[in-house]
Amino acid sequence: QGDICCCFFDAAMEEQLYQEEEITAELSRIASGEGSGSLFLNYQPILELATNKIVGFEALARLQIPSLGLISPLQFIPITEKTKLIIPLGDSIILQALRFLNTLQNSGYADIGISINISAIQLLKHDFITHLLQMISSMQVDPQNICLEITESVFASNYQDINKVLGHLQSQGIQIAIDDFGTGYSSLARERELNINCLKIDKFFIDKLMTLTEEEAITGDIISLAHKLGHCVVAEGIEHERQLQYLRKFGCDKIQGFLFSKPLDEQAALSFLKAQT
Ligand code: C2E
Ligand code: MG
Ligand code: MG
Ligand code: MG
Repeated sequence: QGDICCCFFDAAMEEQLYQEEEITAELSRIASGEGSGSLFLNYQPILELATNKIVGFEALARLQIPSLGLISPLQFIPITEKTKLIIPLGDSIILQALRFLNTLQNSGYADIGISINISAIQLLKHDFITHLLQMISSMQVDPQNICLEITESVFASNYQDINKVLGHLQSQGIQIAIDDFGTGYSSLARERELNINCLKIDKFFIDKLMTLTEEEAITGDIISLAHKLGHCVVAEGIEHERQLQYLRKFGCDKIQGFLFSKPLDEQAALSFLKAQT
């Protein structure tokens, strides 16, 4: 590009750009009810350590496109946020999760909860709470069984606005979890004033438990602090027995991870639940 400016380009970059365009186009078709692909949910069991029982599932979005196959949410959620398609698609995700919660209730699992990941854009939409409460009432589910997960990085900006919405949600009986705790903007300093019920420790800290000693790992300190503030603690990404042993020792409340189960489709999630009772 002229005398003093150069720019790198390779085929992989072009491929990625094309893929992104294709995903964007498919997402907007799905949002208008026309797509040939599908946006659906998988459910990962959440286990309570004290009882060794499943107490809930986290709903995790999946995108299937005929031409590209299964796309990771790490790839398509940022696209839905950039294009604001997260508003209609997020509604569809919430509805699917609430429908599954309704199925669980009707199958005799009245105490099982559902955790739903929510983007800041959704949360800050002026009618989010009203709309959510309408969906909850139309699906005839108990707000107490719903937990909304908000990633920690969201608190970096709009802290006051977000926290206010979370307070309103809590007053309706909905649980709030701060997701990926410890990775982004540290909300530790404001931990006391956050309107949250639960803290999800990111896999980064869980991986550390494979190499660090009990004293070196700060995971135990995070758990103690959260408990002091009255929050429950969920650890994500447990793959090894050694991590589980540490987390039990630290008094962690709940765990989620491949050691226990991968995210499952609705039928498999129900079977998994049946198998333990
Ligand atoms: P997250 O909310 O932190 O979800 C946990 C992620 O860790 C999931 O990845 C899950 O499959 C994965 N995971 C759980 N246990 C293990 C383990 O033992 N080992 C490993 N390697 N991974 C484990 P997934 O489903 O790919 O989702 C990635 C992220 O995409 C989520 O992270 C969340 O931030 C976002 N996401 C997924 N679904 C939605 C959604 O419906 N809405 C929004 N806004 N974001 C979503
Ligand atoms: Mg999550
Ligand atoms: Mg997380
Ligand atoms: Mg994560």
